[in-house]
Amino acid sequence: MPIANHILEYMKKGSWIRQMFEQGALMKAEYGVENVFDFSLGNPDIEPPPEFKAALIDEASSAALGLHSYMPNAGLPMARKAVAKYLSTEQGINITDRSIIITCGAAGALNITLKSLLNPGDTVITPSPYFVEYDFYCGNHGGRLIPVPTMPDFSLDIEAISRSIDKNTRAVLINSPNNPTGKVYSMGSIKKLAAMLKEKSRSIGHALYLISDEPYRKIVYDNIKIPSIFQHYPHAVIATSYSKDLSIPGERLGFAAVNPNAKDYDKLLDAMTFCNRIMGFVNAPGMMQRVISKVQGISAPIETYAKKRELLCNILDESGYEFTRPEGAFYIFPKSPIPDDLKFVNILQQEKILTVPGRGFGTPGFFRIAFCVPEKNIEKSRDGFAAAFTKCNL
Ligand code: PLP
Repeated sequence: MPIANHILEYMKKGSWIRQMFEQGALMKAEYGVENVFDFSLGNPDIEPPPEFKAALIDEASSAALGLHSYMPNAGLPMARKAVAKYLSTEQGINITDRSIIITCGAAGALNITLKSLLNPGDTVITPSPYFVEYDFYCGNHGGRLIPVPTMPDFSLDIEAISRSIDKNTRAVLINSPNNPTGKVYSMGSIKKLAAMLKEKSRSIGHALYLISDEPYRKIVYDNIKIPSIFQHYPHAVIATSYSKDLSIPGERLGFAAVNPNAKDYDKLLDAMTFCNRIMGFVNAPGMMQRVISKVQGISAPIETYAKKRELLCNILDESGYEFTRPEGAFYIFPKSPIPDDLKFVNILQQEKILTVPGRGFGTPGFFRIAFCVPEKNIEKSRDGFAAAFTKCNL
């Protein structure tokens, strides 16, 4: 077999979303696109804002020379400056362009961070349910992900995280608002987590890093506030992107930011910049770097997700599903009405509804609905969700 064993293993493990996607394609061919309700992918259904398109046209028609050249591996100075200015306000501390590395999406930001931090055998702890790519991102760099279950409402179980930390632990990786649960970690829980990590860093004799994966930070409901990570913990890295809030996942633009108070701040930034280069990204797409410099603080019409959340919660409620109302992002993670989540996802498929089993997020017994789809599709799925629930309760 010419393929590396661990890649074959990864491919088996990471195939749930892909399987749903492929089955969805077959179903759409058979029944027609309009008759299949595809809630399997976190691909925003709204268009980027007009400001983004205007900036793109402006940049694409610029007569300036050298616009398509190589650039510093950390990114264009104008992009890093614009991001640092915005992030200073968001995080409530002074951040300079030195702290910022422009990356190929949040995925690129996470990979350069993990590559810089992990020695072979090091572990990274993440609250579960979790974004399944984390397994691979840690494995890419010789590390191992240790999922630690959250509380029943998906909030952080800080004692459980604390118990799973040992001398091999290098980082804790959190994601709020969360994919797949929509949970937002409160200020209180971030403060407790930070206090515990400071204490543990002292007792194990090295700084534990807190990596905060935040691509859904701007997509929140009911005016909920996302706490600043940098204000509460010094050894922190933010990994994020414009994929979800500007609706540009295909353009692969994001950034990593290192807290200016982090231990080994300069060394870590130099390492991450180097990793951006040697992982083959070299730098994030130049045209997009110039565009995002001009649209800091602007989003696609993300407020439309609130209405979709409302509609879907009502549909699930009236059918009898048990679920925690999402506080952010565009996912709901209800309990499967039967213990076997895969079997239930298949029952939903008989109703032409595509979702992803909870085991794809390290948490069997649940399923994920991505509601970044047109409202009319959510409305049309009402009877199918009800019928699937009834089938399980007969
Ligand atoms: N982190 C989480 C939690 C995600 O849901 C995603 C994408 O769905 C990513 C990271 C990767 O984002 P990007 O497309 O910006 O690389």
